[in-house]
Parts: sequence; C-alpha cells; structure tokens
Amino acid sequence: MQNAASPPARAPLLRRSAARYSGWRLFLEALTGHRGWGEAWRKARPRERYRVVVVGGGGHGLATAHSLATEHGITDVAVIERGALGLGNVGRNTTIIRSNYFHPDNIRFYDLSLTLWEQLERQLNFNAMVSQRGTLNLFHTEAQRDLFTRRANAMRLLGVDALELSRAEVRRRVPLIDMDGGRFPVLGGFLQPRGGTARHDAVAWGYARAAAAAGVDVVEHCEVTGIRCQGSRVTGVDTTQGFVGADVVCLAVAGHSSRLAAHVGLTLPIETHVLQAFVSEALKPVLDLVVTYGAGHFYISQSDKGGLVFGGGIDGYNSYGQRGTLPMAEEVAAAAVTLMPALARVRVLRQWGGVMDMSMDGSPIISRTPIDGLFLNAGWCYGGFKAIPAGGRATAHLIAHGEPHPLARHLDLDRFAAGRTIDERGAGPFPYAH
Ligand SMILES: Cc1cc2nc3c(=O)[nH]c(=O)nc-3n(C[C@H](O)[C@H](O)[C@H](O)COP(=O)(O)OP(=O)(O)OC[C@H]3O[C@@H](n4cnc5c(N)ncnc54)[C@H](O)[C@@H]3O)c2cc1C
Repeated sequence: MQNAASPPARAPLLRRSAARYSGWRLFLEALTGHRGWGEAWRKARPRERYRVVVVGGGGHGLATAHSLATEHGITDVAVIERGALGLGNVGRNTTIIRSNYFHPDNIRFYDLSLTLWEQLERQLNFNAMVSQRGTLNLFHTEAQRDLFTRRANAMRLLGVDALELSRAEVRRRVPLIDMDGGRFPVLGGFLQPRGGTARHDAVAWGYARAAAAAGVDVVEHCEVTGIRCQGSRVTGVDTTQGFVGADVVCLAVAGHSSRLAAHVGLTLPIETHVLQAFVSEALKPVLDLVVTYGAGHFYISQSDKGGLVFGGGIDGYNSYGQRGTLPMAEEVAAAAVTLMPALARVRVLRQWGGVMDMSMDGSPIISRTPIDGLFLNAGWCYGGFKAIPAGGRATAHLIAHGEPHPLARHLDLDRFAAGRTIDERGAGPFPYAH
C-alpha cells in the first residue's frame, strides 16, 4: 500500500495508455494476455446536484451528454439510466442508418446525422462498425416509382445521394429477390449509397466511454421515479438512489417519454407501441445491401456475423412489452418469403421487441417544454437510431444556447398545438399508419 508521503507509483506503460484504443495497443495487449484493458467508462454514483441531468442512457441521452461536454464545455452532467447501457432501443434496433427522407427539413437533419456517422468512430475512438453498404428501397408500381422519384429528387436538390436502379440492376445486385413472384413484381429500386448499418450497442458504449472521459457521470441501475419543480421551474429528479438536483433536466427515454412527462402533468403527442425484429442463424454472405420491400412490411440486411437481421411494422396496439409475438412473426415471415423465397429455409435465432415513442406526425421532438429547464428529446418512432449523432448534437445545442439548433427548428413540441405538423409521408396522426 502507498502512504501519503510516498511518491505516486508510475502506472505501467500499458495502463497509462489504456484510455486510447489503437492497433498498437491491441498488439501490446495481445502480447500480455489482455490484462491491461481498463473499464470502458467510470461507473458513477449520482452526486447531490448537477447543472444538467439527462434521463435515459440510450443513444440520444448519451450523445446529448457527450455533445454538452465536448462541444459546449458543459461537463457538470449526469446521464441517469434505470438499467444497464445498451438494453433499450439503442441495442434493440435493426441498425439501419440513412437520410432518404422527403421533407426538406428532415432531409437536412438526417443527412447531418449521416455525415456525423461518417466521422463518429474517429471522434469517439470506438469501433461502431459503421458500414455504408447502401440502402435500397424497392418499388412495385408506377405510382410508387413516381413517389420515390419525387423523394430522390428532393434529396438530390439538397445535395444528398440517391440513385434509381433498373429492374435488371436490382436483379444483379440482389439475386435473393424473386423479381416476378407474388402479386407485386419488382420494377426497380432507389439506392442511397451512403446509407448502411452500424453496430447498435457499440454506439451506446462508444458514446458512454467518450462522455465519461470528458467528465460526464454515467449512472446505471438508477431509475428516475419523479421530477420535482418549484413553481413552473424544474429543480431535479427523484431516483431510486435519492434526489438529484439539477438546473436542467432533459428527458431522453424513448418509449417511456409519456410516463416521465406525466410526472409534471404534461401530456405528450406520443404513443408507445412495440416494434419487433428478428435475426437468423449465421449464413455465408448473401446480401450486401439493406433492402426494403415496397409492397409489404419487411426490410432486411446481413450482419457482419452472418445473421440476417430483419423486421416489419409496429404492433397496432399500445404496449410496453419488450418481446416478440407470434402474429408479428407470421406477418413478417409471410412478407419475407414473398420477396425472398429462399428465406423459407432459414432458421430464426431470436425475435425481440422495443418500445417505440411514436409521435403523431412520425417526426421527432427536440424541444423545450412548458416547464422551465425541462427539455425533451423524443418521438423517434422506429427511426431514431440513425438520428443519434444529430439528435444528441441538436439537443445539446438547445440546452447550451437556449435556442434550437438551426437544422432542428422544425422539431419543436409546439408544432402539434399550432398545426405545423411535418407531413413526411402523408401518413397522418395515426402511429400504426406511419
Ligand atoms: C426492433 C427495432 C428496430 C429498429 N430499427 C431501427 C433502424 O433500423 N434504424 C433506426 O434509425 N432506428 C431504428 N429503431 C428505432 C431506434 O432504435 C430508436 O428510435 C432509438 O434507439 C431511440 O432512442 P434511444 O436510443 O435514446 O432510446 P433507448 O435506447 O430506448 O433509450 C431510452 C433509455 O431510457 C431509459 N429509461 C426509461 N425510463 C427511465 C427512467 N424512469 N429512469 C431512467 N432511465 C429510464 C431506458 O431504460 C432506455 O435505456 C428500431 C427500434 C426497434 C425497437
């Protein structure tokens, strides 16, 4: 043991450089039995007070805290997560990243995110397995071709990549597709070459590690059970580890947004629905694009481990159950074998669900609330994974400057009351219709 008078022991060479991951470090660790790796992030206990408390250690909560610390110099921040990191939607999604939206404001916002994904691994010093393999939306009717052409043109006008693929090109690129099968032959597709996938839970771990290194307290296994206010101003949160005071509280709890907001009497334009996904046994490489079926609820990609990762639409009823159900397995399987009959011979390894924060216009909310100091990052529906880098940056900007980020002005909460909802797909206010 070292006494107070003795000089501090010098950490061994490997320990001292433990903070940074690199090929060189991997090489050194391999020589010494991988005993030198430190913990990826500090396991913090909550202090009595912070400048900012972010509730929810999913992708958006962690990205917000990271951006506050690294871009705005606000390090007196805690992320309070009720479970372990990565077990919410951030680690349950099908990992697709893209910016092929139609509404110009949404294109700009999601393309900021895609641009940030392109730099993310270097920025976080973490391998998030970002793979820009391309996302392909199939079309099956002339009317659908028109819709996609309109969307692709809207993207191209803003300098975002979008290509039309002919039927022959789709056949060449994705031999698994039965081009003439079912009631809806494939006429062609639209490709966003910069779209692709990223390793979902690595994104949570990478942000947590980088945020903690920048001074943020990442508190796990601590549930927020109440939000306290004085008059109309937030003063902190009650948690299972006691009261934590804060000047600012930001809710980033995805499918639990309505429940948390109810603590301060807010009713949000958000419903919670389950979205399910599936992964098959590992196969040799058979699919090098993300493919979305245009005539049914089905999309698919192949993970780097070889599993086919696929899913469909949300369940039509409200639920907080993070599990799969047989009716959805049947619906997704039917669409899968219609588009790719060979999948009938593939065994499914796992099926799971995540609770989606479905907003009433299908677009997210990054906003102040009627409670001073209470901010909201929510309403991501089934598309919030791709938005994590931009969502975190925009939320941090709003907290730090008190003004919306220039590319997220349209995502305010007031739009629902003012009738300025965002008509991304003309799907209306019904979550199940998105
Ligand atoms: C099956 C499925 C497939 C999907 N596929 C895609 C996709 O391919 N591409 C895409 O862009 N998006 C996809 N999504 C959506 C995406 O995953 C979500 O929109 C996004 O992850 C939500 O943001 P988040 O990461 O912050 O949420 P989460 O990871 O859910 O974070 C919220 C956190 O808040 C915590 N929390 C809740 N209540 C409390 C409390 N009281 N106190 C403390 N903590 C609390 C939760 O435990 C959770 O960790 C998919 C989702 C699912 C379920």
